Order: sequence, then C-alpha cells, then structure tokens
Amino acid sequence: MSIYKYNPENIFAKILRDEAPSIRVYEDDETLSFMDIMPRADGHCLVIPKSPCRNLLDASDAQLVAVMLTVRKMSRAVMKAFDAQGVTVQQFNEAVGGQEVFHFHVHILPRHEGVALRAPGIMADREVLNAQADRIRFALT
Ligand code: 5GP
Repeated sequence: MSIYKYNPENIFAKILRDEAPSIRVYEDDETLSFMDIMPRADGHCLVIPKSPCRNLLDASDAQLVAVMLTVRKMSRAVMKAFDAQGVTVQQFNEAVGGQEVFHFHVHILPRHEGVALRAPGIMADREVLNAQADRIRFALT
C-alpha cells in the first residue's frame, strides 16, 4: 500500500473533470488515454484509470486490469499509427521512483530502430500533438 494519500487536485484528476485541457485519444467506462504534453517520442500517450488512485501501490485489481487492457489497446494503436517496431511502457511510483503526477498513469512510447527517447520536460506544439492524436484515433478504428 502507498503511505501517501490521493490528492484530487492533481492535474490528471482535473483533466478527468474537464477542469484542465487535454488531447483525448481513447476512453471507456474505466480508463482514459490522452497525449503527453512533454512527449519523449512521437505518439507518446498516457493511460489512466478514471477512478482515484495514486499509483501502482494503491491500485485495485479492477483498476489494474482496466488500465492494462487499455495499455495493450493503445500500444497496438501507436505501433500501427507510427509504423513503430516496438513500444516502451513505463510507469513510476512515488517521487523517488520518478513519479511527478500523483494519479496512476502508464506511459506508451512508440519506438523505432536507432531512435532514442527525447529528453524529458520539453513541451510539444499543440498542433503537432493534435495531428499525432488524429493518427492514433484513426489506428483505433
Ligand atoms: P511521471 O509522473 O510518470 O514521471 O510523469 C508525468 C507525465 O505527465 C510527464 O511525462 C509529463 O510530461 C506529463 N504531464 C505533466 N503535466 C501534464 C499535463 O498537464 N497534461 C498532459 N497531457 N501531460 C502532462
């Protein structure tokens, strides 16, 4: 179990409540996938549960199953959308584990031979992200 409490004012909770903008690419009853604003690869998106959960440590079985099913769906979609040869799936827990946003999330990063991940923390152009989101939505159809 996590020793820390869930804070409903985190940015992903605000995205879920539509109090903060996001570029949504997929959702079902339990999960949401949207573009990462500081992508480390073209097509970098995130998958989150719609219900409150800080990270892997306090996730319920149902949240884990729902998130991982969407992770698989999004991994297949980004592979197709970006003609990728692989996908990196990343997930961080608590600050010392590399977590910066404290609502459980999984990173989906399409990968290409010989192309390294970009440095973290660089904001992407919104139009570029919108175009990439369109490609992922199309691949999901
Ligand atoms: P982590 O907590 O896994 O270390 O990283 C959080 C991720 O969320 C980062 O990749 C960062 O770019 C992304 N992120 C942070 N704030 C926002 C936001 O407001 N909107 C979106 N779409 N992504 C965000």
